[in-house]
Amino acid sequence: MAKIVMKFGGTSVGDIPRIRNVAKLVQREVERGHNVAVVVSAMAGETNKLVAWTRELSPLHDAREYDSVVSSGEQVTAGLLAVALAAIGVPARSWLGWQIPIRTSAMHGSARILAIESDLLNQRISNGQVAVVAGFQGIAPDQRVTTLGRGGSDTSAVALAAALKADRCDIYTDVDGVYTTDPRITSRARKLERISYEEMLELASLGAKVLQTRSVEVAMVHRVPVRVLSAFAADNGGTLVCDEEDIVEKNPVTGIAYTKDEAKITLLRVPDQPGVAAAIFGPLADAGVNVDMIVQNVSEDGRRTDLTFTTQRSDLDRALHAIRNAAPQIGYKDVISDPRVAKISIIGIGMRAHPGVAQTMFTTLAQKGINIQVISTSEIKVSVLISEDYVELAVRALHSAYDLDSA
Ligand code: ADP
Ligand code: ASP
Ligand code: MG
Repeated sequence: MAKIVMKFGGTSVGDIPRIRNVAKLVQREVERGHNVAVVVSAMAGETNKLVAWTRELSPLHDAREYDSVVSSGEQVTAGLLAVALAAIGVPARSWLGWQIPIRTSAMHGSARILAIESDLLNQRISNGQVAVVAGFQGIAPDQRVTTLGRGGSDTSAVALAAALKADRCDIYTDVDGVYTTDPRITSRARKLERISYEEMLELASLGAKVLQTRSVEVAMVHRVPVRVLSAFAADNGGTLVCDEEDIVEKNPVTGIAYTKDEAKITLLRVPDQPGVAAAIFGPLADAGVNVDMIVQNVSEDGRRTDLTFTTQRSDLDRALHAIRNAAPQIGYKDVISDPRVAKISIIGIGMRAHPGVAQTMFTTLAQKGINIQVISTSEIKVSVLISEDYVELAVRALHSAYDLDSA
């Protein structure tokens, strides 16, 4: 008998027949003798609708009320799944974040889980009652409802699995595993049998939304074995997210991620002297802008140079505002920006041992006539910034170049 956490995403609980399908998958695990906690997302499209309503009423709404509104989608599905389970004879009850409780920070809209007081829930599931937990939500120190950022039900599930010391956490979604790249971009994407925590962390943080980045961090820290599998073809095996040691074949490139949510800002003719980087990035940090890639050119005359950096597209206006306000302290000649850029990243733990991996990326993009605007690297990834127009072309070309295409 094992203790397992099963998580179902928005598409998997998207309508009543699908909720019945989920109830059957849960029933199957109960009949195998397992103790089960289920974490559910809101029905597909629900959270987007709730976010849009809140914004429509006021773009500058109170973040606590935003959380109160957008957390409601998960309450509906938790209750409905408990009803569906009872209807087929499986004892179950729903749990909201505050009822467990799942304690989080007070950062409304993107709160972090601090602790899960799971004793009562654990007792109930040990007695054979299925716990159906509303994902994405928790409770702040001041007792207000919080949410964990978009895609946060993944994190609810992995954190609950860690708190319960579950044997595994199964993430059911609309694809049957983690692929070499987003299967929506190329039909040649291949399902991975296994992927290391480290690679999955990079893949997620560089754009693959199959798992929320934070959920992979939690899984890695607590060594929770995570499986990603399809709610519609549950017997397909899925992908195991596991320790690097458990992976035999370490390819130079395991996966390719992309994000279109990028913007580029260039400051022209910045003084080439100590303190300038601090004068630029200090005001950006104060304005809450996350800076990602940074490049500074060598100056020709030793006096002035150009500096380019990227931010999330949604932060562009705020970033430009901060830069313009700090113009007297920075002393640049002009600022230009481009919101139509995208970041493509190749990821693989085998990169450490294989030289020349980045070179293949640069040659492949050159052959397609795609200009690389900025490059950044780490031990197991290389990212490039390119025009948004070439995302699909670049991903497909790189996918072939690194021999990732399915047969
Ligand atoms: P859920 O609602 O179940 O949480 P998401 O939409 O958040 O599902 O995540 C699943 C989606 O992630 C897939 O439909 C797929 O398009 C996308 N995706 C992006 N990159 C990958 C990848 N490398 N492997 C699998 N899916 C990916
Ligand atoms: N319903 C939330 C969202 O759409 C959380 C999740 O699905 O993981 O972001
Ligand atoms: Mg998701």
